[in-house]
Amino acid sequence: MPSEFDLIQHYFSRFSGEYTNGNIRLGVADDCAIFTSGHHRHIATSKDLLIEGVHFFSDVSPMALGHKALAVNLSDLAAMGASPIACLLGIALPRVDDLWLAEFTKGFYRLAEQFNCPLIGGDTTRHPQGVVISVTVFGEVTPPYMMRSQAQPGDTIWVSGELGAAHIALQFMLKEKGNKGLSASEQHVLAQIRKALEYPTPRVALGQALQGVANAAIDISDGLLQDLGHILSQSKVSAVVQESKLPISPLLKELPVEDIAEAVYRGGDVYELCFTAPPSKTEAICRLSKNLRIPLTAIGTILPCGEKASLNVIDTHGKRVDITLQGFDHFSND
Ligand code: ADP
Ligand code: MG
Repeated sequence: MPSEFDLIQHYFSRFSGEYTNGNIRLGVADDCAIFTSGHHRHIATSKDLLIEGVHFFSDVSPMALGHKALAVNLSDLAAMGASPIACLLGIALPRVDDLWLAEFTKGFYRLAEQFNCPLIGGDTTRHPQGVVISVTVFGEVTPPYMMRSQAQPGDTIWVSGELGAAHIALQFMLKEKGNKGLSASEQHVLAQIRKALEYPTPRVALGQALQGVANAAIDISDGLLQDLGHILSQSKVSAVVQESKLPISPLLKELPVEDIAEAVYRGGDVYELCFTAPPSKTEAICRLSKNLRIPLTAIGTILPCGEKASLNVIDTHGKRVDITLQGFDHFSND
């Protein structure tokens, strides 16, 4: 039976001694890791918890889990316009499964290398009831930050990428696990969209490029309406969104419209950015979209608040679409 220290040495020490960015002074080895930050640069930090049975299926691909554990945190840095410095990994495991750990770390380190975000420390422990993963990321950012509270009336509302695929993938995977199973056409769609759920790409370069361009930004981890709702309430503004402008994933086109609407408005786990910027920045944003090869779509406008912050979605006939301001909330049934 390997000891905790064998596990750390074998699986979690890959960056020791040869760091991929210049900030790191000390990594996995000591009581603390140490990193520096540039002059006039501020440290941005964020943490996400992933719990077996709550955030991922017990039989999830460990490589996908390793990828996603870091991706969801990098996405928070992206929404702040921060560039990654390093990350910490807390992991609790019911048992030592070498195959599982090898795959998990493969997914994790591949993304860490891609985004120059070395794993410099963490904690490893046993937990018989299931896998628990907690990643903390650190990044650097130069003020002014793209805060949720900075949207201004007149701003255009933008989203990156395409919407809906991750939520539908989750619904199909839940159905597949239930006793109903999936039809052949559903299986075909799932094969094309499960990547959106399992291997999201954090929009780190986009976030950095939006600094000085966008006023407010958020990642759509809990659903477009709920996350845009956070910008509205914190900025004390209202918004109108044009339904016809929403960039729906073309892979969903055969599905019932209600299912697509649910996925696009309320589906979480998207890890695209929703941001607001003055119309004077439209040209710069279109250039950015071309240079980064990321679709960026204007979906609506920020309005003055009125009595209470409101979010209206308008269809092609100018009629209000019935939506409720709700996305994913772990405590919503309490
Ligand atoms: P401590 O007793 O100070 O908590 P540990 O013995 O738990 O230290 O860890 C030894 C070293 O290994 C530390 O540098 C710690 O940050 C690192 N470490 C432990 N677990 C992980 C992990 N899952 N990923 C990365 N580094 C880890
Ligand atoms: Mg420890």
